[in-house]
Amino acid sequence: RLAKEGLTPLKITTGQVLQHIGCPHAARTTEPCIDYPASISTGHKKSIKLPLRGCSFCDVAVDKGFHGTLDTETVIRQIQCLPEIRYARKIPFELINEYPLPILLDLLEAIHLRDIELSQINLTLRADGLISGVEHLKSLLMVAARRDIFVLISSIGFESFDDRILRNLNKGLSVADNLQAIRLMRDLKAEFGDTFGYSNREGANHGFIHPTAWDTEETAAKNQKTISLYGLQNDILPPHSTPLVIHHASALGDWIREIEHREGLQWPRYGSVIGWWDTPHAKHDQG
Ligand code: SF4
Repeated sequence: RLAKEGLTPLKITTGQVLQHIGCPHAARTTEPCIDYPASISTGHKKSIKLPLRGCSFCDVAVDKGFHGTLDTETVIRQIQCLPEIRYARKIPFELINEYPLPILLDLLEAIHLRDIELSQINLTLRADGLISGVEHLKSLLMVAARRDIFVLISSIGFESFDDRILRNLNKGLSVADNLQAIRLMRDLKAEFGDTFGYSNREGANHGFIHPTAWDTEETAAKNQKTISLYGLQNDILPPHSTPLVIHHASALGDWIREIEHREGLQWPRYGSVIGWWDTPHAKHDQG
């Protein structure tokens, strides 16, 4: 960092360790029907069917797709390079892997064999990865507890608690999946309180996309009902939701351009973002 006295070292408090390149969900090609935006959808519901990989809003899915897993040695070398904090333990780091649970205990053992001490692992994963890997996570937490390592589920992209919006986001998950993942995390917290974290109070920032292009009174009511019924505001919801962003390069970019083409409309552009929240104008109005 450049300070008055010249270059000064920047204190690094958290790191990122790459284990997956891209996202396995982006390796799955599907052909969902994505509804027209609520703002121009009247009477007969129209939708666009388009082939896409991963979540429809995600530019990582388009940019990277999925290029596989780095070998354990490469992952450990990255961890070895992290700075240390108290008692010569490595700083907390986020493991970049949407489905880490089946292989995490082996990684932890390999790290232990090298006499590398960890302080905290932050996991960013999908709800289906948590559900299918929960037994692996329990085994991991038992070992983590003995070694005084904190495991934080720092982000799960729940995105919505309305099934229609989840379908339009091509999340590949239902509200029931999201709620099951939340129940599992709450149960794990009750069992492994000092070793495991998942809540907004513990520094997690789970994904919740709102507003979206498909919001109606019905979707708002469903979201709100689920949030109240399951107390999601207490531990799951972030302080602020993330508005839906449609980047030109994302699958939703293709979706909205196809609607523009079919309907003779044009939404405004703001740099690399398409302004779905504005009123579109007829294409011949552009001058
Ligand atoms: S939003 Fe997350 S889960 Fe969806 S494709 Fe992108 S990286 Fe994968």
